Amino acid sequence: MTDQLVEPACVDEQLRGHLQGHGILETGQQTCWTIDYSKLSGRGVIASRDVASDELVYEDAPVVQGPRCNDKYPPMCVACQKTGCALFPCDRGCGLPVCSDACQDDPRHRDVECPYLRELEPDCGSDWSLPLLQALVPVKALLLESHLKDIFYCFQSHGTPKYGRETFRQFGILQKFLTSVHQNVSYI
Ligand SMILES: [Zn+2]
Ligand SMILES: [Zn+2]
Repeated sequence: MTDQLVEPACVDEQLRGHLQGHGILETGQQTCWTIDYSKLSGRGVIASRDVASDELVYEDAPVVQGPRCNDKYPPMCVACQKTGCALFPCDRGCGLPVCSDACQDDPRHRDVECPYLRELEPDCGSDWSLPLLQALVPVKALLLESHLKDIFYCFQSHGTPKYGRETFRQFGILQKFLTSVHQNVSYI
């Protein structure tokens, strides 16, 4: 995320490419929405024509998925995102919780944040770390492929205390974690 607003036309192009990549939009498909500056704040999804009742307006695909950084939400498995189940630390020592061996070996975890965090040697011993779990979304964002990072940079940060509380908390956890690990590790 950045404080520098990306031009709406650029966001529109990035978004359409992303949705096409997920099979949600066809190339050149007309939609009833566009991205433009919003009277409310920043940019928004704006209707470009009248919308019929019951018409599907927009279908999205997440760029990053992960837990909220808020203690009122229960911890979740980092692979399947299930909550309310037994969680155990990933055997590889990344410091994150999983609900099963299958989730531990899920490529969405095994090949992404798991090796990165192991390299940083989290100090939660043989257990998993709730703060690390709560800071997972920015870790995943840092590890996105470059074309997905371009989409991520289109997002607008909410820097006010009202809206930015979780972002600040995640940033604080991550900063503390990164400054506590070995100096010879190359950060992203
Ligand atoms: Zn799971
Ligand atoms: Zn792991």
